[in-house]
Amino acid sequence: MVDDVRLDDMTLMRDAWAQIDLDAVTHNAQQIRALVPSHVLLMGVLKANAYGHGAVEVAHTLVEAGYDAFAVATLQEGVALRKAGITQAILLLSQPPLHAIPLLVEHEIMPTVNTVEFAIELGEAALSTGKCASYNLKIDTGMSRFGLQVHEVIEFLDTISFHRALKLWGTFTHFATVGTVDWPMQDQLKRFEQCLALMRDAGYDPGIVHAANSAATILCPQTHFNMVRTGIALYGLHPCEQTRSKIDLQPVMSIRARALQVKHLPTGTAVSYGRLAQVNKPTDVVVIPLGYADGLPRRLSGKMDVLHCGLRMPQQGAICMDACMAFVQHSTPSTQRMPAVEPGDELVIVGKQMDGEITMDELAHKAGTISYELMCSLGRRLNRVYIKRSGAYSPLS
Ligand SMILES: *Cc1c(COP(=O)(O)O)cnc(C)c1O
Repeated sequence: MVDDVRLDDMTLMRDAWAQIDLDAVTHNAQQIRALVPSHVLLMGVLKANAYGHGAVEVAHTLVEAGYDAFAVATLQEGVALRKAGITQAILLLSQPPLHAIPLLVEHEIMPTVNTVEFAIELGEAALSTGKCASYNLKIDTGMSRFGLQVHEVIEFLDTISFHRALKLWGTFTHFATVGTVDWPMQDQLKRFEQCLALMRDAGYDPGIVHAANSAATILCPQTHFNMVRTGIALYGLHPCEQTRSKIDLQPVMSIRARALQVKHLPTGTAVSYGRLAQVNKPTDVVVIPLGYADGLPRRLSGKMDVLHCGLRMPQQGAICMDACMAFVQHSTPSTQRMPAVEPGDELVIVGKQMDGEITMDELAHKAGTISYELMCSLGRRLNRVYIKRSGAYSPLS
């Protein structure tokens, strides 16, 4: 397996890393493809550097898997994809400042537009370069975030429709609730369909209609329309409990580190800031070069485990900025003896190791957050090591 792991020089400079399994991305993309009718387009959501997984590498993998379009949260994220050679449609999920318009036009990144002023400036900028600017209209059907409310849409379109250099590429909405086909979501869906009908009645073609995030894609076929926008499922995590029985997803990110030091400490020795943890019998304590600056929430101090040989060691003491400590003993009673840890041994903070597994969901739950936030945090500073066994694309070659 190690033969397939490509490391760049910097990756080797620190014994803590995020391992990104691009084959799992491919698997998850295929699972999503199989759930959705073949005429429905697939948009991969790559905001926040693909939820911490590395947008460029994930995008190339998704292009190979047949994804048609991508969504980002910032102009910078879109430009980075263009510079990496991504030619598919890229949607910016909200309206950026007016001064972003020249770059949007230059890189053919579609903004979500919600003011007349922005639309006209976008059209003018496109006209001056001989292009036509594609944009998306976001309908706020109940999230109260980006976009126009249903009653504002026709007036908006009436005001800007004279402009020849503007093209409504797509019309979309976003659900505030995930999970079952519950009432709030049905309500949003109804409002969205009403809006589409109003647009068509007024002679406006809504273009590519899209609404579904991962949860809706997996659970509610009536939300598929012309395209689905999947994020979390591509990264192998479930958006909610109800999707677990519907689709087989493989986690993409695992968080690994090598034991930096192992010290044998006598009873009564305190560990880490505040001396909150104490050794209550002579114990080997492992120093792990991974801390809260790497996205490991400090509030997990003393509440999480670390895998060694697939067995759980309890993390103890305050998590530091760049390190944390674990005790070489079982966090739960076990008949198996914890093998001694040597400096350089590979430890797993999130992921599988032999028969053991710590999931992103487990750690997020213990930290009082959701997997989305934890993935973004852990993917920010750590070096990413990509694994890919199949296909032609190798991200670091
Ligand atoms: C983040 C986001 C998605 C993807 O959501 P997942 O739950 O990760 O699938 C889809 N659409 C919009 C507008 C988003 O902001």
